[in-house]
This record gives sequence, structure tokens and C-alpha cells, in this order.
Amino acid sequence: MKRRAFMQSAALLAASGLSGTALAATGDGDGEATREKARVKRYSALGKTGMRMSDISFGAGRLTSSALVLRAIDRGMNYFDTAPDYGQSEDYIGEALAKAKGRDKIYIASKYCQPMAYTAGKSHLQVGTTKAEYIAAVENSLKRLKTDYLDAVFVHAIGETPDFEKEKARLLDPEMLAATQELKKAGKIRFLATSSHGPNNMEPLMTEAVRSGHFDYIMPAFNFMKFPKVPEVLKEAKARGVGVVAMKVLAGAKEGNMKFDAGQFERAAFKWALAHAEVSGLVITIQSAQDLDLYLPASGQPLTASDQQVLDHYAALYDTEYCRTGCGDCLGACEQGVDVASILRYQMYFADYGDEKRAMQSYASLDRNVDACAGCADAACERACPHRLPVRSKLEAAHRALSLSIVA
Ligand code: SF4
Ligand code: SF4
Repeated sequence: MKRRAFMQSAALLAASGLSGTALAATGDGDGEATREKARVKRYSALGKTGMRMSDISFGAGRLTSSALVLRAIDRGMNYFDTAPDYGQSEDYIGEALAKAKGRDKIYIASKYCQPMAYTAGKSHLQVGTTKAEYIAAVENSLKRLKTDYLDAVFVHAIGETPDFEKEKARLLDPEMLAATQELKKAGKIRFLATSSHGPNNMEPLMTEAVRSGHFDYIMPAFNFMKFPKVPEVLKEAKARGVGVVAMKVLAGAKEGNMKFDAGQFERAAFKWALAHAEVSGLVITIQSAQDLDLYLPASGQPLTASDQQVLDHYAALYDTEYCRTGCGDCLGACEQGVDVASILRYQMYFADYGDEKRAMQSYASLDRNVDACAGCADAACERACPHRLPVRSKLEAAHRALSLSIVA
């Protein structure tokens, strides 16, 4: 544990009257043997798609082997979230699909994207992409995945820029919609979905998607740390028969600094998200067999008082540390146009998710980086942050980390 975090943690524990051991003892009670056998216990209908997805599902953003996919299938996971810009993720899933039985019982979702290698960090297809290019992107995914169809294709990461109309135009791009129709007709995709981790206008853009009638399901960032307007979006989605998958449920995934049993925080965060009836399942990055052992005991389980205690502890510890994915409240404050929320998100990928290369590539692709802060006297971004984050020093730390070396 880092010294500062340890001191904070110790102070909080003292204030709460709990020892570290006592907090650990409030865990969900699964022993090591149980974890290794843990399987998915709940499958839920995803909107009107007819898919029944595993409540805890596989995020393949940092996948490095097909064996892990097969192991997850064996443990009951049936929904896999991948993308052309997730390294070799699609290739590994393709290898697994070739060996797995029952393609029709496995759901594969990919994105309208290009591989990162060709795009200098800007991989999501933008307005200006032709229908033929959208179709080609999916066909390239199918080749890498060695399959005839995707269960879903996403218009991914809506809300990356502050321009609401521009983002809405990408969300509802007529070329994309025409390509989607053609791909559906050809049996190459089954459903259209969209996702957002903000930082701009996440809730209004997801609401646009829900109301448009074009999207079968949505995947917003959703976690226990203050997303006050997301539940309204979820309710409307449910009322209109649009499915919901949650992502970014770990609120920054800084649990390595806390005195909990391995996986205890994650399981509590999963149960919190899944306690919302509108949420059919969540996507979490799986990087090892141990992740399956640690995460799957939460499947089908209710949120308990002790889970909530764990989450409250985390929230207190990181309240002024965690840049809320999807927030973006500070973005209008910077006269230099520095995209604070994206930079802090890339830093989260770098420091907390261990996704250094993609974080650095994404930072390198920004038109304006933290160099623009050099002559800034008043740090208006910091004053605009309702969560009291030390924004300027966080930006400087992010810049140091994300520009450490030349990104290949
Ligand atoms: S420190 Fe100044 S220039 Fe940098 S993001 Fe904040 S307001 Fe903008
Ligand atoms: S720095 Fe503060 S205001 Fe800006 S996106 Fe992060 S949490 Fe929101």
C-alpha cells in the first residue's frame, strides 16, 4: 500500500471504529475453494434482444490469450465485449470461438472502430465515414473473430468531445444506420448498441440513443460514486425495452490500496450495479483465471450491508481522488480547451488498469495536452470541480506518466 493511502485508510478506519481485520471480516464469506468453483449464477434478458447475458460478463480490453476465453465460457460467462482497437483481443476470441462448442450460446459484441495501429489513437469511426467503410470495419472484425456474425456492434465512446451536436451526429450518423440495416439484412450483425464513458453529456446522449429507436441496448459508465442522473436514463431505457449493460463499475479500481480481502471490493461494486433492476449485466476486464475466481462469487448475489460498508469506505477514501468517469463538469472552465476529464481517464488506464500503451497512445492523440497549463494562473478547472479534486496537480502527474517515452 502506498504510504499516503495507508495513512488515509488508517485514519478512516480509526474514525469508523473498525480495524482492518474487522472490515475484512465483513466480507461476503466465500472461501478459496468456493471461489475456484464459482460459476455464473444469473442470466438476464437484455432488453428485447432475446439474449440472456451472464450478469458478470467478460471485458476483453486487455486480452492476451484464447485459453482465458475458453475458461470463462466453462465458468458460465456467455457475453464477450471486444473491439478492433483492443490489441489482439478479437484474434484471441476468434481462436477461442473456433474451439468452443455452441456459437449460438455465446454473445460477441464489437465496435464500429479501426485497429489502433492505423489510427494514431483515434480509432472510433466518425461522421464522414461512408456506409461501405462501416460495413468493411465489421467485416474485418468478423475475419479476426473467425465468425459469420456479431451479436452486437457498438457506436462506442459517445461523448468524447464537448460538442453535443457533433456527438449526436456520430450517434445517429445516417451512413452508420444504413450500414447497420444492410449488415443486419445480410445476417452479419444482430443488434446495434452504444456506449459512453463520457466525459461529456453522457446522460443526454444515452437518452438520445434510447429515444431514437435505433439502439437495442446501451452501455453507460455506472458505479456507486455519484452518477445522479444515470438512473433516470436506465428507467427510460427499461420503459422503452432498451437493454442496459453497465461498465466502469469499479469507480477507478483503486482497491489495491485498501485493506480488504482480494476481490472483496470488486464483488461489492458488482452487486451494487446489479442490484438495479434495469441492469442486465456488467462488463468487467478479465485478465487472468484468478479474476474469474475472485469475481464470479458475486454472480446472482444480493448487495448486503457489509458490501455497502466496503463501498462507503472506498468512496470516503477516494472522494477527492477519483475523477468521475462521465462527469465533465469542469470542461467548460478551461479557456485553453484542455480536455481534463479525458486526460485523467487516460491516467486511470495507465496507473490503475495497467493499460499503459493505450493510455499513452490516447494521450499522444490529443490536440492539446497539459503543456497548455504552463502559463495558467488560476486553474479554473480546479474551482469548477464539484468533487474538490486537486485537478492541476493530477494533470501534471498524468502528463509525467503519459509522456514518459515515445509510444510505438
Ligand atoms: S490548469 Fe488552467 S490550463 Fe490547465 S486545465 Fe486547468 S484551467 Fe485549463
Ligand atoms: S476533474 Fe472533477 S469536474 Fe472534472 S471531470 Fe473529473 S470529477 Fe468531474
